[in-house]
Amino acid sequence: MEVLIYPHPILRRGGQVVTTFDAELRQLSEQMMEAMYEEGGVGLAAPQVGIEKKLLVLNPSGDRNERSGELTLCNPKITKKKGRDFEEEGCLSFPGIHAEVERWVTITVTFQDLDGKEGTLHADGWLARIIQHELDHLEGVVFTDRLTAAEKLRVKAPLQELEERYRAQV
Ligand SMILES: [Zn+2]
Repeated sequence: MEVLIYPHPILRRGGQVVTTFDAELRQLSEQMMEAMYEEGGVGLAAPQVGIEKKLLVLNPSGDRNERSGELTLCNPKITKKKGRDFEEEGCLSFPGIHAEVERWVTITVTFQDLDGKEGTLHADGWLARIIQHELDHLEGVVFTDRLTAAEKLRVKAPLQELEERYRAQV
């Protein structure tokens, strides 16, 4: 499973609502979790591997031995949010780029699990940040869209480098 790198156009398409909760979906989420660990990430959204579905996986520890941290969310939606803060983020689709992003500190998320069962999750801090980052991918939004003008300027050159590398491939 290959992680698509910016500016691959699928990253801008986001995902469709998941309506079929079957063995195929479960397998996809397992493969995504595996790809996330392999790439050293803490979260991965289906559009990042070329699958246009509202599905994301995460583990705030990034450690495959800490299974208790694993979360798989289908069709997640933020229903409550509170507080704002800045922290540095990276993204598997933007190798080598890190920047400060403003996010909600505390969120409530409704979602469906891999069986289609509805759930509610309260998250804050790092976990809330990862969910918001991955949820953005499901809407075709990437973290560099959310930077302040100063941060945008700071990552301009490395972003252009990724764009050039992409153009050289296709
Ligand atoms: Zn990302």
